[in-house]
Amino acid sequence: MTKPYAEVIGDPIAHSKSPLIHGFWLAELGIDARYDRCHVTPDALAGYVAHRRDDPTWRGCNVTIPHKQAALDLVADKGGIRETIGAINTIFRDAGGTLVGTNTDAGGFVAPIADLDLAGRPVVVIGAGGAARAILFALARLGAGPVTLLARNALKGAALLSHFGLKGAVKPLDAALPPAALLVNASPLGMTGQPPLELDLTPLPDDCVVYDIVYAPLETALLQNAEARDLDTVDGLDMLVGQAALAFEIFFDAAPPRDRDEALRQLLTS
Ligand code: NAP
Repeated sequence: MTKPYAEVIGDPIAHSKSPLIHGFWLAELGIDARYDRCHVTPDALAGYVAHRRDDPTWRGCNVTIPHKQAALDLVADKGGIRETIGAINTIFRDAGGTLVGTNTDAGGFVAPIADLDLAGRPVVVIGAGGAARAILFALARLGAGPVTLLARNALKGAALLSHFGLKGAVKPLDAALPPAALLVNASPLGMTGQPPLELDLTPLPDDCVVYDIVYAPLETALLQNAEARDLDTVDGLDMLVGQAALAFEIFFDAAPPRDRDEALRQLLTS
């Protein structure tokens, strides 16, 4: 097998949309490479990395649940990810042959809202898990704030705000929303099989953007409610495709054809 390849690893992994996204771009660009999915359990993670390290056709992998933190211990951390986001979603081989971990979730999150000026503007984030960490990192970089973090674990939320040097407050999930320029759901609430996210959007101003990173279903109740209020919305596929685009460039040294996003969206939702 000499064809170059990348892949996504996780446990479970069958649900991952990454092979569809990368496969679509490879076909569009006519690149003779593959993007696979590989089921890797936690006890097999170190062995997996050791095996791939010696495979010259392997360009790298995306890393998903539950390996995003554990994988950091197995690769070089040249970008200081441990001290910032604290989790990686991409491993690649650098020019010197070293396996390096990085995180494209923060960049993928920002891409769809790149035109929004968030400096000094209030933001609401729901959730305090891995995705919230990447999002808070990005918001701190953008100078956003104050940030109201809605989380069930107040101590964990407060530690996150302080870690990223963000001004703001942690409130319970049923607290009244403050006026905000952006509201982001970074929790699994509203996802298929998870409890609903029950928010009263009335306090949000008319120019607030509502961003739900959940992508199953794509049209969450939160986004439906925001659209009913005529607010601008961003869905989870935008972030998913955004983080994949950054990883694709790293793996295959080519920019994905983002002018084909509409066709990709159709593929992902059909
Ligand atoms: P995670 O690390 O497990 O964190 C989940 C967060 O939500 C935690 O803070 C958790 O609270 C909170 N939470 C979970 N269930 C809750 C409940 N019933 N009530 C209140 N809070 C609850 O997960 P993640 O990796 O951050 O992912 C979160 C969601 O984002 C998932 O739906 C995932 O599919 C999606 N996601 C999308 C993208 C994308 O590209 N679109 C990327 C990454 C993730 P505790 O802290 O108290 O445990």
